[in-house]
Amino acid sequence: MQAQRLVLYPRDPERAPRDADRILDGLREIGLIAGPWRGDRHLAGPRFLELIPFLGCSPHVRLEPNPGEDPQDAGQGFCHVQVPDCTPMPRFLYGTNTKTPRCPACREAMTGWRASIGAAAPGGPPTLRCEDCGEPWATVDLAWRRSACTARFIISVWDIFEGEARPARALLEQLDWLDAGPWDFCYLRD
Ligand SMILES: [Zn+2]
Repeated sequence: MQAQRLVLYPRDPERAPRDADRILDGLREIGLIAGPWRGDRHLAGPRFLELIPFLGCSPHVRLEPNPGEDPQDAGQGFCHVQVPDCTPMPRFLYGTNTKTPRCPACREAMTGWRASIGAAAPGGPPTLRCEDCGEPWATVDLAWRRSACTARFIISVWDIFEGEARPARALLEQLDWLDAGPWDFCYLRD
């Protein structure tokens, strides 16, 4: 099974919540998460469907695991929220669904981006070079059309297909208390 998720992230890739200890308390207060499930994964809270409304009718939204369900064995069969620790440097996150960006200078499709990212030195800021005009770009300056992001801190909402549900404005506004500037979102399929 493929794992699909909606990812919330601060628009500024360098920003991360200042008070990491407050993150989970805050997400519980607004009703996005309930109790912990496993490790850094949390069950959906009482206002989950209000904060992340599904488009159209979605009769199959499941918010609780089946008994004994493990995220490692069968993909993610139900919606839950993962809040990993911040990383010291921004990371470029992409999936099998990530769309090919265009070079902002020459407008050519940067079709070799996957190979370039794979070859990039780990640890440095994520950059890609246009194979047509040779211009280097930070991944954050390319238009990925909500199919990739560059961030130090993310909130993953698992088992949401691309475009199936999107964060309510209220949720993006309520993330303000995390003090990481404005937020954005994308969809990733592993
Ligand atoms: Zn170019």
